[in-house]
Formats: sequence, C-alpha cells, structure tokens
Amino acid sequence: MLDDDRVRADTPGCVSGPGPGPVFLDSAGSSLPPRVVTDTVVAHLRRESEIGGYRAANERLDDLAEVKTAIGALINAAPESIALSDSATRSWADFFYSVPLAAGDRILVSEADYASNAIAALQRARATGATVEKIPSDGSGQIDLDALAALVDERVKLVSVLHAPTNGGLVNPAAEATRIAHSVGALVLLDACQSAGQLPIDVAELGVDALSATGRKWLRGPRGTGFLYLRPELARSMEPARLDLHGAEWTGPDDYRLAPDASRFEFWECDVAGRLGLGAAVRYLLELGPHEVYAAIAARAEHLRKALPEIPGVTVRDLGIRHSGIVSFTVDGVDSVEVRDRLLAQDITVTVSHAGSTLLDMTGRGLRSVVRASPHCFVGFDELDRFVAAVAALRA
Ligand SMILES: *Cc1c(COP(=O)(O)O)cnc(C)c1O
Repeated sequence: MLDDDRVRADTPGCVSGPGPGPVFLDSAGSSLPPRVVTDTVVAHLRRESEIGGYRAANERLDDLAEVKTAIGALINAAPESIALSDSATRSWADFFYSVPLAAGDRILVSEADYASNAIAALQRARATGATVEKIPSDGSGQIDLDALAALVDERVKLVSVLHAPTNGGLVNPAAEATRIAHSVGALVLLDACQSAGQLPIDVAELGVDALSATGRKWLRGPRGTGFLYLRPELARSMEPARLDLHGAEWTGPDDYRLAPDASRFEFWECDVAGRLGLGAAVRYLLELGPHEVYAAIAARAEHLRKALPEIPGVTVRDLGIRHSGIVSFTVDGVDSVEVRDRLLAQDITVTVSHAGSTLLDMTGRGLRSVVRASPHCFVGFDELDRFVAAVAALRA
C-alpha cells in the first residue's frame, strides 16, 4: 500500500488543511511533480548560472546516464535501448520518419490514435504514396484483433498502436496487436504517452519495436522531456531520419559512423536540467513502487467511474474492457469548456479533450468534446468527492 500522507507531503501542489484546497485532476495533461523533481531542475539551473552549462553537465555525467537506467528499469529495457528527447511526439516522429516507406506500402493507425501521429502518417503517405488505414475497433471500443488479423498483409510496414488514448480510459490490447502485426513483418510503434507512469509496461512482454512516452504526464517529470524505446536490434541497426554529431561520428570527408545504440536518435543539445528532473521523477516512482502507484491511480479512477454516472445528465465516455486512470465524461446541456471553467473557479483542475485530438474516435461517436478527469495517486478520496459534488451542482 502506498503511504498517502508521504505522497501528499512530497507534492507541493497538494494543500491539505482547513478549508477546501485545490483538487488536481489533470495528470493526463501535465501532472504535479514531486518536490524532488522541481528541486533537481532548479538546482541544476542554479549550477549552470554559476559555472556554465558545460561544466555543470560534466559534474552530473553519472546522474545523466542514470536517467536511462531508471527508465529502463521501469519498462524492462536496457539503457542502450532508450533515446531521450523533448516530448512524446518528438520521439514518436523520430522513429516514424525513419521507417522506410514506398508507394503501395500501408500504414495502420489505431482508431483512438493521437492527432499528431495521424497527421504525421498522412504527411508521409502523401510524400511516399503509402496509404493510411484505420484499425477497426470492436464493440467495446478497443482494437478489434480479428479485424486487424484480417486487415494485415505483407504491404503493411508500420502499425501505430495506441496504448491508452488521450480522451478516455481505454487500454488497448497492445501485446496481442503487436503479435498480429509481426506475423506479416510490420513494425509496431506503441504510443505509451498515457500509459507510462500509470500502467505496467514491459517492453519484452509487449514485444513492440518502439515505444514513445512523455515526461510531464503520469511520470510527473518536467515539461519538455520524453523518451523513445527501441528494440535492441533496431537500436543497433536502424538509420535515423536525422543525425547530428551525437547520433553519429564524422569519420572522414565522405563518411560517418552511427552511434552504437539508441542514442543515435538523440541530438547533442538538450535541456540538461529537464533530463535530470525526468530521472528524479522516474526514480521517485521506482522508490514508491510502481505497482502501488498504478493500483492507487486505478482505485481513484474507479471511484470516479462509479460516482459520476449516478449524477443525472452525466455520461462517462470511457471505452474498452481494461481501464486507465483517465475518466472522461459529458454533462447534458453544459458544454465541456463551461464544465472545465466552472470547476476551475472552484480550484478543481480538469481538462477538455476536443474532437481534433482523437478525430477518428470522436467523430465516430459523434462527440465534439469530453471533460477529462485524471487523478494521480496524490489525490485524496475526499477531493474526488468534492469534485463529484461540484459536477452534480453544475446542472442545478
Ligand atoms: C499527450 C499525448 C501525446 C503527445 O505527447 P507530447 O509530450 O505532448 O508530445 C501523444 N499521445 C498521446 C496519447 C497523448 O495523450
């Protein structure tokens, strides 16, 4: 069991005490970092101001290397398989734009796929003559594995599997979808942006070729951080679409040599303070016990999934069989933006997910927007109940 008091004490954004404090339900957007993350970032920025960025980074070389070790420990990967970046989208695109495509090739995207992934797929399809097709969903809303098996052939070069979407509690059967994609030799790129930090991820079990995630959401790291995982053989063999003097070495007037591992997908320049902060966030999660944290998130989301439908006019919009910590809903007669703003006036933070972020799924269901509540382990059940009461009062 997680020590709730410790977790809250470690989180400056949680204010306990007399009177209603803030209720923070946006860890799917940008979470509240634990104190150690902010302290790590600020301390490094201070150090840079004292001795310059190069010397400050050199003092922290071991800690910087440790960032990948910590991420690897979380997802069961070797540090050599991790490339750090500044966002999940950057990492996703770094891999996606490096997959060779030609006219007639097929790219499959998940129905719940994120807009940035779909836009990139459409752009490359236009440029190469490949096609982009949607993987159908089954009656529950998750990837329809039978339909996927019927859809794939040897022209499918890449399958974009969305682990957990931005707009609701769906969790896709990623390992099963990966096995189907691999049966025809396609590469699988898993968008784990909304699962890293709140659901167990074991890349060996999942079998994916690559995985992208961000720092600021469920991992509670700083903004402007993210990472890419590559299957070890790919980390050693794949040519990135773009290189610099960190991803490759200039070995002669006409030649260069790629870095021997996933770091070939990184550029040299980076936000060192942010990376150290990401390392602190992942180490903090490992120290708390990831499975305890995941269970605490699931319990909070389930609490909301029980309470919200009891309010007249409120509909929970989560799809799928397994659920993540994202609870999305609509309120009859009250626009999602108004719901968000009226809750914000009571210091309750939720976000709105608009159709444009997950176009295929939302238009398929005739939804323009949903309100998204995403409680992390630091949110108290009393706070959840305050949120539910505030939602109930919206239509009064
Ligand atoms: C937020 C999100 C992204 C993008 O993450 P960035 O760090 O903003 O690039 C990608 N996929 C999903 C499912 C997301 O929710």
